[in-house]
Amino acid sequence: MNNFYDFIVIGAGISACTFASFLNKRFSDVSILIVEQGRRLGGRSTTRQSRNNIMLQYDHGLPSIRFSQHISEDIQTLILPLINSKVLVDISKDILLMNEFGILNNSRTNDKIYRSLPFMINFCEEIINQSINPKKINFLFQTLIKSIQRINDLWELQVNNGSLIKSKNLILSSSLIAHPRCLEILNMKSLPLSDAFVLGKDKVVDSVLSETSKLTYMKRKTYIFHVKNLGVVQNFKHKYLQVLFSNLIRDDLNFERIIFHRQSDGSMILVLHCSYINNLLEIDNRKITHYLLSLFFKHRIFIDLFLQARLIDTMDWRASQPLKPLLPKELQWSPISKIGFCGDWFDMNTCEGVESAMYSSIRLVQLLN
Ligand SMILES: Cc1cc2nc3c(=O)[nH]c(=O)nc-3n(C[C@H](O)[C@H](O)[C@H](O)COP(=O)(O)OP(=O)(O)OC[C@H]3O[C@@H](n4cnc5c(N)ncnc54)[C@H](O)[C@@H]3O)c2cc1C
Repeated sequence: MNNFYDFIVIGAGISACTFASFLNKRFSDVSILIVEQGRRLGGRSTTRQSRNNIMLQYDHGLPSIRFSQHISEDIQTLILPLINSKVLVDISKDILLMNEFGILNNSRTNDKIYRSLPFMINFCEEIINQSINPKKINFLFQTLIKSIQRINDLWELQVNNGSLIKSKNLILSSSLIAHPRCLEILNMKSLPLSDAFVLGKDKVVDSVLSETSKLTYMKRKTYIFHVKNLGVVQNFKHKYLQVLFSNLIRDDLNFERIIFHRQSDGSMILVLHCSYINNLLEIDNRKITHYLLSLFFKHRIFIDLFLQARLIDTMDWRASQPLKPLLPKELQWSPISKIGFCGDWFDMNTCEGVESAMYSSIRLVQLLN
């Protein structure tokens, strides 16, 4: 593997893929290395393949993408080909709302809500596929960046196997190595981003460090169930359905939504999203099923599924809570140190996580000269 690039991007989620694809369109000869600790593209929007049954795949993080009505032209250019080729499909009609009396209604929104097909990971793959010189985009998976240094105007990054990779420019698409949670998650004594700088040397980096330290996180957990009984699944007319729970149910049980996704072998995966779940962690699997049964007691077809559902996986997430005010665009690029930042921790007015992550990446490319 080459160990020198024009750009190294830490992370392979939606913002990193958007950044790499846009940069490649603008400067097609620039070499890019995307370094990701996970096994695949996608970050929080990735798809997991079951270790025990490779036929089963499920979106255990971000289940769908909401784009506001004021979506930027650049994002539209990126997503229109995906909509036309049906990689992105509008699922607004496949989303129901459940109130505290167990009544299901259609969700009403003016925003567009999409899912990528066949799985959410395909969204990132297709964004990368839109680059015009894909040979210039390289990937390093299962690789954790633990330290970064700026030496003789170049970036030197140490990866978990001890080897060094170097670049002229560095992009952080995740706040991890700039945020104190890194100390616990990566078992570090100090923050890699602050270690790379002497305080006062780069005002942009100083401000990013100071503002990012204020980011708070809430816990999210997804529970993945499998229904093998093909007869029961066939009786359930939906191949894909999302049920969002009302605020009262969320407050009471921490249930956020549940997704029903038919698999290629005819079985079904159910993904229950829970948030603010400190107390829910104590609830065992049988109680979750019990709560689902009581919430859906008016709907026989759901009850049949829950009675057959077996928990096969769980996933813990940390969801960053937006800063108020969010990080401004002036903090996205430091021309002095050739370091840039993108992701859903940057200010994008009122749009949600994914749209704001994509927009921040596009804006970062535009800030580069
Ligand atoms: C369960 C769940 C539900 C969600 N629901 C919604 C929703 O309904 N609407 C919405 O808008 N958003 C939602 N989100 C948030 C949405 O997924 C994110 O806003 C979006 O995916 C952000 O993408 P990103 O590329 O900025 O960050 P990420 O996807 O977090 O990508 C960052 C990547 O960097 C990698 N990384 C970090 N540090 C290092 C390191 N040191 N070395 C190597 N790799 C590193 C991480 O492994 C990660 O893959 C949800 C997220 C989750 C988890």
